[in-house]
Amino acid sequence: MAALIDGKAVSASVRAEIAREAAILRDKGMIPKLAVILVGDDPASAVYVRNKHKACIEVGIEPLQITLPAETPEDELLSLIDKLNSDTSVNGILVQLPLPKHISAQKVIDRIAPDKDVDAFTHDSVGRIVEGRYGFLPCTPAGIMKLLEYYNVTISGKNCVVIGRSNIVGKPMALLLLNASGTVTVCHSKTVDLPSVTRRADILVAAVGIPRFVKSDMVKPGAVVIDVGINRLPDGKLCGDVDFDAVSEIASMITPVPGGVGPMTITMLMQNTITAAKRAIER
Ligand code: NAD
Repeated sequence: MAALIDGKAVSASVRAEIAREAAILRDKGMIPKLAVILVGDDPASAVYVRNKHKACIEVGIEPLQITLPAETPEDELLSLIDKLNSDTSVNGILVQLPLPKHISAQKVIDRIAPDKDVDAFTHDSVGRIVEGRYGFLPCTPAGIMKLLEYYNVTISGKNCVVIGRSNIVGKPMALLLLNASGTVTVCHSKTVDLPSVTRRADILVAAVGIPRFVKSDMVKPGAVVIDVGINRLPDGKLCGDVDFDAVSEIASMITPVPGGVGPMTITMLMQNTITAAKRAIER
């Protein structure tokens, strides 16, 4: 039976350390501050923004929440980012995605100053991730790396398979594993004979967005299985991309959903904000 990778516990321990770092910064007269911009009234986005607000308060980061109407022109949003870029009291800037259709998300994201890009989504940050010359780490993949580190999972030399190639999870996950000397394969919707590839994985990361997609016959016995999926079932319950009950019979370690990768993502956002504040104080 697989051991559980407890994202809640790791997250609590990392947040306690972040809170200590925030307190040290405050003692030095620097109040770490994260600006979160929400455009429109998408209910899921509102929940994510609220959770980020709560996490900020918990660790001693000052949240600056800016909510704009859905019809806000792109130019106005770009001007707001310019203003926040030059505001020295703001350390991190995050634009909650998705944005309304009339706004180019990439244009808006790329306007964020690289030293305030705590989501690590700008071209500058992505380029640095490719090079392994990190400015900020992408939050969900960085949270997964932290979990692997906490549970002493060796990455170097291991076969790592990532299912999913999105810009926010799959691709940066593959790069972090590669930069940690894993032998990485990225699978996606066009991969032929997926199980034959996933069965080679010592570390298998599922970021597909399909409930219980990864079955036990896709997993090598003893593999470490990381489930990024957050899927809402018709009964309202959350479930991951991995068939948890069956796969835990053969994996050596596995993340649950909820309580695995999810809690780590916002924690790494808090970590990036502290990193930004520390760099600002050194300048
Ligand atoms: P996405 O829809 O952008 O990407 C899904 C990927 O899965 C694509 O690259 C696609 O090629 C691949 N895919 C789809 N069908 C496939 C198939 N049959 N076989 C193999 N590959 C297939 O999704 P995303 O944004 O990367 O998110 C993936 C999941 O992770 C979602 O459930 C999302 O809610 C969740 N998520 C969780 C967190 C977190 O903090 N835990 C953060 C981001 C996303």
